[in-house]
Amino acid sequence: MARYTGPACKLCRREGMKLFLKGERCFKDKCAFDRRPFPPGQHGRMRNKPPIGYAAQLREKEKVKRIYGVLEKQFRKYYEIATRKRGVTGEILLQLLERRLDNVVYRLGFATSRRQARQLVNHGHILVDGKKVDIASYLVKEGQSIEVKEKSRKIPTIEESIKTAKGRGIPEWLELKPEEFKGVVKSLPDRSRDITLEINEQLIIELYSK
Ligand code: SF4
Repeated sequence: MARYTGPACKLCRREGMKLFLKGERCFKDKCAFDRRPFPPGQHGRMRNKPPIGYAAQLREKEKVKRIYGVLEKQFRKYYEIATRKRGVTGEILLQLLERRLDNVVYRLGFATSRRQARQLVNHGHILVDGKKVDIASYLVKEGQSIEVKEKSRKIPTIEESIKTAKGRGIPEWLELKPEEFKGVVKSLPDRSRDITLEINEQLIIELYSK
């Protein structure tokens, strides 16, 4: 599966906010956005006006894609699935992204970033309902359990992540059993309760429905 492999901090600076793409580093004073909160490039400092119209819609879409580590083709697919479902399209779109297995592994605290979570999934360290699932885009369902494979529980990065994730908190739609390295999907994520990121999904819907 294709993915962005360039510098992560540039993406935060481009979107004008912290996207928390690098795990623990994002909470330390090494954060590039905290030190240089303006777009990258020679004329970055001069681009200080907030985007409007089409530019605002485009930036919002890019921001969400970057947060969840999804490229255009797959993001568009999520949008199309969302339009076919009953309900508010923007909210369903975010719910689909939130249900991705790599995001759930991150939310449960088994990884410090979605990038790291994707790697754990791709390398076969994660079980869903007791079976190995190595597809980061797998969508979890209500009632499913997500756990770290027994042999992988000693991986230092996973142990470290669980410790540090306690401060980050676990969203209400998930339940974590840290001693079992396991999480359960209690319900599907709710836009207003569980997705607290600063996102205006309506702008994305306006962009795609042109
Ligand atoms: Fe973004 Fe994290 Fe880099 Fe800061 S350290 S700019 S939040 S990826």
